[in-house]
Amino acid sequence: MIHDAEKNDLVDWRRRVPLRHEADVAVIGGGIAGVCAACAAAVEGASVILVERFAVTGGNATVGGVANWSGETAGQGAIFDEIIAMQEEWDSIAPYPGPVDGFANTNRVFDHEILAVILQELLLRHGVQLLLHTKFVDVQCEGGILGPAVVAGASGVEALSAKVFIDASGGGQVARAAGCELLPRGERGPIPPSMMYFVRELDEEVKPQLPPGWFEPVEREADMPMTSTWPAGPRGKALKLKVIGHDSGDTIGMTALEIRARRRMFEVLDFYQRDFRGEDTPRRDHPRNANVTRWQFDHCSPMIGLRETRRIAGDYVLTLEDLRAGREFDDGIARGAFYLDGLTPDDEKRTYMLTKEEQVVPPYQIPFRSLIARDADNLLMAGRCFSADQMALSSARVMTTCAMMGQAAGIAAAWCADRDRGPRDLDATELRRRVEERGANLDV
Ligand SMILES: Cc1cc2nc3c(=O)[nH]c(=O)nc-3n(C[C@H](O)[C@H](O)[C@H](O)COP(=O)(O)OP(=O)(O)OC[C@H]3O[C@@H](n4cnc5c(N)ncnc54)[C@H](O)[C@@H]3O)c2cc1C
Repeated sequence: MIHDAEKNDLVDWRRRVPLRHEADVAVIGGGIAGVCAACAAAVEGASVILVERFAVTGGNATVGGVANWSGETAGQGAIFDEIIAMQEEWDSIAPYPGPVDGFANTNRVFDHEILAVILQELLLRHGVQLLLHTKFVDVQCEGGILGPAVVAGASGVEALSAKVFIDASGGGQVARAAGCELLPRGERGPIPPSMMYFVRELDEEVKPQLPPGWFEPVEREADMPMTSTWPAGPRGKALKLKVIGHDSGDTIGMTALEIRARRRMFEVLDFYQRDFRGEDTPRRDHPRNANVTRWQFDHCSPMIGLRETRRIAGDYVLTLEDLRAGREFDDGIARGAFYLDGLTPDDEKRTYMLTKEEQVVPPYQIPFRSLIARDADNLLMAGRCFSADQMALSSARVMTTCAMMGQAAGIAAAWCADRDRGPRDLDATELRRRVEERGANLDV
């Protein structure tokens, strides 16, 4: 269901709004990329405002319930090191498994509610001004310069001016509003979202919770959508449910995704709660799925987890070929190595666009140019809306890599503001050196 703007009438919307917020650097979106960007810019001496539409920062990592750092957690940069150290202090993260060779299939689960508190304190310690419950609404771009932006928070619509903007909204909201070019979607659509929801295991079997007549109960294993399970604290499990069929970059599509996810979640849980162990399927025999008939619904994430929404066209588009070649760049500022997690966009089952063998990539670098919006002079991006083709993003979107991108974008934005220069006028070698000094391991 792709939105057709042609069918809409256009309405003029004009209003004078107070210019209430001002900073060197404005970071839009407080996911892991935005948090790392904001803190890194502040460390460089910039005044920083972070705009987040929810009550907490963390994005997918908190509100989305994706409580698992994939890949190597060491060497992702000083800001990410601080996050890990705080999680360890709170005893809210799985132990470090030791250095890992490549990123594929290495995970550290954590408590995402505690992470929300940690991130807010981290941002405050670094002097970042937080605007929570504040949604970025619009920005104009004239002659390649963005600003001021319009945001809407508890006190209504206000303006925010900044020398440099970082789009860390995941969905390329700033670039879209500014009229910057977006990259074409994958032929089969964006890689689909998943709903994260949580169950706890009781001592006895649970009475199926879905009341008769509600939704469409799953009757056969063959009709089950892709579901994965993770540990989530004592007696807890996190369930990840693939949801397809709607566009997360469209208002109506996003609404439909949330509705479908909440229905599907109970349909799947109902299937577990009714005893289906008589059937012979490999995933059912997995130890993580033992005692499914004792799983009781606990809660679901306030928001469905989004993997891919919009990718912004940058000065460079990181490609699948770059990843396969383990490419190094003169302006390499981040490193990835996670496998190509190219879930099939239009199939609810556990299917991938590549074979298992094709999913493996060597460590590769991400160039600074892929964090610079092609059509603007003061817009950087970090995280899952950066400039990459679909398959490259399917690897680089893991949170460890997003954190690295965030740190680099934050340092660069602070330098731009301080030196009154655009990102293209920065010395990429100097930036790379600084990123490494700040703990990023760029080895490929
Ligand atoms: C179901 C699922 C499972 C995953 N599993 C893993 C895993 O196991 N390990 C791993 O490392 N990665 C995993 N990923 C990938 C990873 O979670 C994401 O790619 C990553 O968190 C993206 O971070 P981000 O900061 O770029 O974007 P997001 O986390 O999407 O953050 C964007 C932020 O911007 C805010 N925002 C958006 N629009 C506006 C606006 N208009 N105004 C103000 N704020 C706005 C949002 O509220 C959000 O806080 C998974 C993703 C999903 C969806």
